[in-house]
Parts: sequence; structure tokens; C-alpha cells
Amino acid sequence: MPPAPARPIRLDTPVQFLKGIGERRAEVLARLGIRTAQDLLWHLPHRYVDASTVSPLASARVGTELAAVGRVVSKGVVPTRKGLRIFHAVLRDASGVLECVWPGQPFLDRTIEVGQTLLVSGPVRFYHGRQMAPREYLILGDAEGDGDPLGAGKVLPVYPATEGLSHKVIRGLVDRHLDALVAASPDIMPARVLGDAGLPGLADALRMVHRPETIADAERGRRRLAFDELLDLQLMLVRARAIAKRARSGVAFEVKRELTTRLRESLPWRLTADQQRALREITADMTARERMHRLLMGDVGTGKTVVALFAMLLAVENDYQAALMAPTELLAEQHAATLSQLLAPLRLRPELLVGRLAAAEKTEVRRRLAAGQARLAIGTHALLEESTAFHRLGLVVIDEQHRFGVEQRAALIGKGAAPDVLLLTATPIPRSLALTLYGDLDVSTLREKPPGRGTVRTAVRTEGQRDNVLAFVERECAAGRQAYVVLPVIEESERADLRAATTMADALAARWPALAVGLVHGRLKPDERDAVMRRFRAGEIQVLVATTVIEVGIDVPNATLMLIEHPERFGLAQLHQLRGRVGRGAGESYCILVAGGAVPKRLKAFAATEDGFRIAELDLAERGMGDLIGARQSGGFEVRHARLPDDADLLTRARDLAAELLGRDPALQRPEHRALRERAVARYPRAVELFRVG
Ligand code: ADP
Ligand code: MG
Repeated sequence: MPPAPARPIRLDTPVQFLKGIGERRAEVLARLGIRTAQDLLWHLPHRYVDASTVSPLASARVGTELAAVGRVVSKGVVPTRKGLRIFHAVLRDASGVLECVWPGQPFLDRTIEVGQTLLVSGPVRFYHGRQMAPREYLILGDAEGDGDPLGAGKVLPVYPATEGLSHKVIRGLVDRHLDALVAASPDIMPARVLGDAGLPGLADALRMVHRPETIADAERGRRRLAFDELLDLQLMLVRARAIAKRARSGVAFEVKRELTTRLRESLPWRLTADQQRALREITADMTARERMHRLLMGDVGTGKTVVALFAMLLAVENDYQAALMAPTELLAEQHAATLSQLLAPLRLRPELLVGRLAAAEKTEVRRRLAAGQARLAIGTHALLEESTAFHRLGLVVIDEQHRFGVEQRAALIGKGAAPDVLLLTATPIPRSLALTLYGDLDVSTLREKPPGRGTVRTAVRTEGQRDNVLAFVERECAAGRQAYVVLPVIEESERADLRAATTMADALAARWPALAVGLVHGRLKPDERDAVMRRFRAGEIQVLVATTVIEVGIDVPNATLMLIEHPERFGLAQLHQLRGRVGRGAGESYCILVAGGAVPKRLKAFAATEDGFRIAELDLAERGMGDLIGARQSGGFEVRHARLPDDADLLTRARDLAAELLGRDPALQRPEHRALRERAVARYPRAVELFRVG
């Protein structure tokens, strides 16, 4: 076959036609998602090696950490007496030599070759002489002597690579085509906007991320790309919200001050200021012509249920029905019990609809709902079944909304003509993230806890103090309290972890013959799990050993102790969720983390605050945004360049700009906005429908 004719690079040119890439490399690149020239340009470094932090090999001191660059002069695998095989390589630079060892990694012998230039970083120790045990290594140049690329620039970009294509080759390819690709990429952002934000033009930004002179440069370039991405996201979310508002004219409820006022008067306590504000926001939504689409966010125990109940009563006093859906039977039952109690003075009784009711009972509940005799329904997925119909559903409340799929939420909402929607979540997230995840929702937050509730004291203990901790738990349980003992389960080792939980339950049962010890884990069927939880709630079990499956909203006021094993394996937000299961009664509760080794700073920070929003911020900083979005939002929006909370300023700016643009040109139909629209649609396929006109 004759070679492909030379043609100028266009962004949509398939990579296989680029110099240096043939059919075979194109196949490998496709595994990285790189198919076109544009994809190659946007394959960004995931990190940088900063040569200014590299030290001469001879300067390595035992007991310190160091990053250095050197050429491999010898290497090999040596067995130890204990059967461990160690890969070692000796590096040389102008200052001298240093031996590097990788215990237990003999396979590196196939990757690392004599003559290569390596970057290594890690601690230096003494073992028959100075040795480094690299935590990280990077092959900078190979044996043919393409030299030390750090010599050329001060900062080296490192690209995500794949089997058969090293980051080095990728760096070469990007570098070779960078200027042509940048020239082919027009900047569609108005100069005024960039000027205001202090961000570079697109061409500069792309050069900064691919060929930075300093780390600060690379960061400046990244922020520009992050801004574009956040703007696209906000254009989509702001547009989605506008469409939702316009398309969904709903019931304009009237404040009649009947049931709602009677509830307020019958409550034994006053609403907190946060509850009052949330209620004002909800009432404003419900009395407006547009349909409400609001998220009520607050830690467990901040009193979301009562707020939701006021909303439900507002619907009912307007002669509509209201439904509350929870993800498990246990939670639905708990809500039913709470609401029944609160509603007793009003002579109103909510209907409970859950799977385990007898068939005849379910039929009867459904009959009353369809006939409009029952006005308040509380239930699980059973509410979604086809046989459940409402006479006049005006408000839908969904507890732990993220536990339901989009279709499930839609199914319940679809049981009314145009009901208002209130979503509840016990997972607080920082405002910056809320704007991204829930940009198409209005959000009310409950931050303060009602007064008169117990506090949770959090303590971090070490392995050596375990006996003391267990003695404390035993004393408390003997005095009539109850305890959770939580163990992590990570998927790869689920079976081993499960064994650990079972072993723990057995060990505690043997240690405490006078106490009843129960066990729940993810392998139990929902009804088996519910049965154990019910016995715990009823006080028949004093110590509940559990993996992380304990329900978020579960309310066992007498459970005042929580012991968390291997806390270092949990995210901070997850630890906080767990801790929310205690402290639900009036007395003092304890959450004790038993750390494996030295107590890490993050756990100390966790122990120091009970504020879920504060912890969410720490969690976000710890894990980064992409990860959180992935975890929280199935089918969510990918964010590749933006980093929160660092880019919170850009997010606010993007949000304002999106609102301004869409205010002037709601579907971005004007010629000068076409490029923006096309970019948003290309990045977020969901935007296709949003910006379609006609
Ligand atoms: P959440 O659903 O946010 O976890 P709940 O609505 O279950 O919280 O409220 C937790 C507990 O606090 C309940 O027992 C509730 O009756 C009580 N409560 C709610 N609001 C107040 C308040 N303003 N003052 C005192 N107690 C309150
Ligand atoms: Mg609740």
C-alpha cells in the first residue's frame, strides 16, 4: 500500500495519519481513548517531574528522602534467605552512584535495563551501605541514549501510558505535533472573559500544560482548561434548570394555615433557625406556579423529616396527597412511626406501603390511596409498582435520594399530574460541589442540630489500647447501652474481609458471654439484614458487628457506642456517615477509632469536628472531585481538568457567566454563541437535547 498522502493536520484527522504513528500505534492509542489528532492534543500529562527538586546521587543521606536522576549501570535480582526476591539497580550520575532496591518486585528485571535513565524517589536507608527503596520510579530515557530529557527543560510532563506505549513515546508524539495542533485549535472564549479571570488564551494554555517551564506554568494552563470545562458544565446545568422550571408548571399551593399551623402548635419544641429557613424556601417553591425541584441537605439528626412533614401537610391542606419514599423497609417503617407520632394530635394517620405487608393489606392501602381516602403515604419501592395509583398526588418526597435511580424517582413523580418534588439527603457536600452535581436543583441546607441532643465524643486509639477500649465497651453494654462494631469491606478482598467480620463477631461473643452479639454484612439478603437490625433496635442484641451496610438513617437512640476498626481504610465522609448512627439519644455517645499504626493527621482532623459540611470539604480535598462525582452520581458528568475546592473561584465565575449568556440567548442560538454550544454538546452528550430548538 502506498503511504498516505501528506495533508495538513486537522483536529479530526485520525491519529494513524500523523507522522510517527502507524496503524499499529493507532490501535494502542485507541486504548487510551486517543483516536483523532484532537484527542492526542487533549491527552494531558497527569503529573510533572520538577527537575529543580532533583538532587545529586552523592548527596543521598541515610534517613532522608530524595528524588534523583541517574543512568542504570548494573542491575539484577537477588534472593534473600527468607525467600524474598529483591530487584536492585545501581544508578550513576555526575556526582557518584547509588544502589536502589525493590524488595519483592523481581519482575522489574523485565522493565528496567542497563543504560536507561531513571528518576527515582524514596527514602534512603543503611543496609551494607547506602540504599534507596524507591517509592516511585520513572524511565526517562532508554539505553539507545536519547539522553536525559530533564536536561532540555526544567519540568517534565508525564502522560498516562498503556501497555505497549510508554509515557516517553507519548510525550515524543505530543511534542512533535503540538505546534500544529495548537495552531488548528481556535479559542472560542471571549477575550474579555479571560481578561477578567486572569486566564491565558487557549494556545498558551495548551503549551503550558504540555511544555511547562515551571510547575506554576502548568497549573496556570490547567486552570484555563478547567474553566472551559466548568463553563460547559454550567451551561448545561443552568439550561436544564431553566427548561425544567418552564416546562413544569405545577400546583400553586395556598398557605391555609390549617394542618401546618396545628402541627407547629403541637410540636414539643421549636424549629431551629435552619429548619425555619428551609421551610420558608420550600413554602415559596410550593406556592409558586412552577414545580418545586428542591434538595434538602443535612446531616442525620438535623431534623429533615419534620421539615418534609410540613411540606406534606401543605399539600394535604390543599386537598392533595403526599408520598414519602425511603430506600429500605426499615427506614420507611421508622418514618411511619415518627410521622404517626407527630400527626397523632392532628388526627391524621399516614399509610405504610412496604413489600412485607400481607397481600390483602397492600391491596387495601392501595385502594385507599387510589380513592383519595388516604392522603399521606410512606413506603418503599412498593410505591412504584404499577398497582399503586394516587387520586391526586401533589407532593413527592424522596429520602436518601441518591439510593434511587433516575427512573425510579421519575416513576414515583409520574404517579401525579405535576407534583412538587422534595429530595432529601444526609450526605452534606460543599457548595462548590453541589453547584456541579446538583446544578439543576435548588438546595436548602440544615447545618445546625436541634438543641437537647446528645453529643458524640470521637477518640482515636491505637492497637495497643484495644483491651482498654473493649473493656469500656463491655462496661457500657453491661450498664444497658448498645454498641456498633464496624469493619471495612473493600471489594477486592471482600471474602477475607467478611471472614474478619465473622471472626470478630465470634471473638466478641466468646469474650462477652453475657452480651448478645449480632452480625450484619452485605452478603445477607435484605430481609435477613432487616431482621437482625430489628432485633438490635428492640434491644435483643447489644453488640452489632457490621460491615458498612448499617443504614444511614437508622435510629437506635440506645446505641451510644461505635467502634470502628481500620479507620484508615475509610474515606472521611464515610466515617462521618457511620458516626451518625450514634448520638441519636439524649446522653453522651462515643465513637472510637482503633487505628492500626500511628494516628494519621486526617483522623485527628476528623475527630476534632462533628460538622458534616466541614468534613465534606476535607473529604473533597482528600479525594478530588472526579472521584466524588463518580461515586455519587451514576451516569454523572465527568470532570477531567477542574479540581475542587481549589477551583471554586472558577466554578462561581463559570456559573455566573453561564447564567449571563443563557439570560441573553437561552438556547445559545445566536451565531456568536454557536461554537460555545457545540463545545458543550461535544463534551456533555446530555446537552444535546437541552440545546436543541424547535
Ligand atoms: P434527620 O431526618 O435529618 O436525620 P430527624 O428529622 O429524624 O432528622 O430528626 C432527628 C430527631 O430530632 C427526631 O427525633 C426529631 O423529632 C428531633 N427534632 C427535629 N427537629 C427538632 C427541633 N427543632 N428541636 C428538637 N428536636 C427536634
Ligand atoms: Mg431522616
